[in-house]
Amino acid sequence: MEVVIIGGGIIGLSLAFELINRGVSVKIVEKDRIGRGASWVAGGMLAPQSEGLEEGVFLDFCLESRSMYPSFVKSVEEKTNVDTGYWECGILKLAFNKEELEQIKKDVDRFKSLGLKAQFLTKKEIKSVYPSIGDEVLGGALYEEDAQVDNRKLCEALAKFSYENAKVFENAKVEKIESKNGKFFKVKTEAGDIFGDVCVVCAGAWSGQLSDLPVYPLKGEMLAVDVEKQDINRVLYSSRAYLIPRKDYHRLVVGATQEDVGFKEGNTVYGTCWLLKGAMDTLKNLKDKNIQELWYGYRPATPDELPILGEGKTKNLIFATGHHRNGILLAPITAKVIADYILKEEKSKYIDAFSYDRFSV
Ligand SMILES: Cc1cc2nc3c(=O)[nH]c(=O)nc-3n(C[C@H](O)[C@H](O)[C@H](O)COP(=O)(O)OP(=O)(O)OC[C@H]3O[C@@H](n4cnc5c(N)ncnc54)[C@H](O)[C@@H]3O)c2cc1C
Repeated sequence: MEVVIIGGGIIGLSLAFELINRGVSVKIVEKDRIGRGASWVAGGMLAPQSEGLEEGVFLDFCLESRSMYPSFVKSVEEKTNVDTGYWECGILKLAFNKEELEQIKKDVDRFKSLGLKAQFLTKKEIKSVYPSIGDEVLGGALYEEDAQVDNRKLCEALAKFSYENAKVFENAKVEKIESKNGKFFKVKTEAGDIFGDVCVVCAGAWSGQLSDLPVYPLKGEMLAVDVEKQDINRVLYSSRAYLIPRKDYHRLVVGATQEDVGFKEGNTVYGTCWLLKGAMDTLKNLKDKNIQELWYGYRPATPDELPILGEGKTKNLIFATGHHRNGILLAPITAKVIADYILKEEKSKYIDAFSYDRFSV
């Protein structure tokens, strides 16, 4: 069997990794360069609890993927010899006003009742660990099981694996997906036609341009500053900004704005000011740090903020897209359920819940 994957972001590359390890031949078709896209620009947080997700199938999906991460990165690192910067650092979610404080208290109780680790911390307790914590911080929740991966390193590792084990077509924008007798037939690209038995659309925020999927871009701006080990030992997350120190302390990533402005390019004055203010509101001593880099990208959003997984109207044409704010977190589980669907025709509860059918009339 030969599988054609459209899009070499983390979803496409993780699926390629999974399929190749199960003996399948894979072609990756990418309009630019693999391992870039939203997956390169993300924060890399693996944060279902800090995101405050409500009980239900999406929280289950996220928690299961978080629990797959240690073995996923181990396998990627063993097969590529590239460190992914995975770090079980925990995430401290901060409250900046009374409403957020009340919500955090409720979330801590809720997560504890689900058997997850969650601890409420007072302002005094937070200040004793972070003397430079912002004056407006009222308290927080420590989610020890939330973690992070250096998404750029993980993308590089997965790209290396794909270059070595898949047929990779770069600078090959897919212009059309063609079917014959209701079944996937080929993709037409700028660089010629590409054939396969099954096609999986993993084209991130651009997926809506390739099909009738209601996937659209939600732009996010980010920046990074220099940091030292004593400044911050885990992710600090809040409505003002999130601060992600990388495991080797080469940078502190600050994110992220969220705007519905299409594929508008560039870092704006407002976006940059918002991020810098959020960073300084969280840790006062960041005001003296040097800025390393500014960047932006596009989350693949859907109307109900849930992914789209599984087959649509055309047989052997499968979707794995719309991962919105959590695509880095959801890469291992998405790869597994889509590979199980392709190879064993196994339709997991997640494919049922996140099916394309919910948008078709
Ligand atoms: C600022 C920001 C911060 C984020 N932070 C986090 C975080 O902390 N944790 C988390 O879990 N998630 C985070 N996300 C979300 C996450 O980045 C995405 O959900 C995830 O990267 C989506 O992966 P993907 O492979 O679907 O898309 P992408 O990485 O965008 O890959 C899609 C690929 O498809 C290619 N493509 C598109 N159209 C075509 C075509 N016609 N032909 C060929 N190729 C095509 C693109 O060039 C691209 O390479 C963040 C996103 C942003 C923007």
